[in-house]
Amino acid sequence: MSVAENLARVREQVADAAIRSNRSPESVKLVGVTKTVEVERIKEAVSAGLQILGENYVQEAQNKIEQVGGQTSWHFIGRLQSNKAKYAVKLFDLIQTVDTLKLATELNRRAQPLGRVLPIIIQVNLAGEASKGGVHPAKCIQLIREISEFTNLQIRGLMTMPPFFNDPERARPHFRRLRELSQEIAEAQLPDVEMHELSMGMSGDFEAAIEEGATLIRVGTAIFGERP
Ligand SMILES: *Cc1c(COP(=O)(O)O)cnc(C)c1O
Repeated sequence: MSVAENLARVREQVADAAIRSNRSPESVKLVGVTKTVEVERIKEAVSAGLQILGENYVQEAQNKIEQVGGQTSWHFIGRLQSNKAKYAVKLFDLIQTVDTLKLATELNRRAQPLGRVLPIIIQVNLAGEASKGGVHPAKCIQLIREISEFTNLQIRGLMTMPPFFNDPERARPHFRRLRELSQEIAEAQLPDVEMHELSMGMSGDFEAAIEEGATLIRVGTAIFGERP
């Protein structure tokens, strides 16, 4: 199947899942995950109308962003080391994986001279997995309080990556938990903090994530095929 055909199928599944859960299909934004994907295939997806791309590695992204160009918006979705923050603020439209005050401090410091207010999403590690990034849910609101003081960052919502399950129904409680956490934070009405985005769901489980309220789904394999 071509990238365009895959994309069409994913979009149909997105729309079906949205309608099933009484949501408008437009309320779900598709982020095409391009790690290890060659530029030609990324361009195919962009030609077929994909508007947001997600990259895990700063170095890999630099080259791709130059070559793909155009109207595409790029989200950073990988683990970001503070020493790469200066490149990330130049390359990306949004950083989905902010999980420490140290990283936020560095992003804010690097965004300032560029005159940018960088949109960010806070990554939450719901299952406390050591192999994954993300703030512990119990510490999330405190981190958000601290980051909200930064004038060159704008918090837009939460992101999570649950443990891997073959059955998407097992990921569902994690998606629900992220939505509940987001509601708790929204109720605190912190100044300059938006909780509009919920980034959750990947190729194997985006339908369940949409049913639980995802506004951004991050899909790689279902669009571009298996990674090497
Ligand atoms: C690779 C990756 C994805 C996409 O995973 P697929 O299963 O290929 O859809 C989504 N989110 C993050 C953070 C990733 O690293």
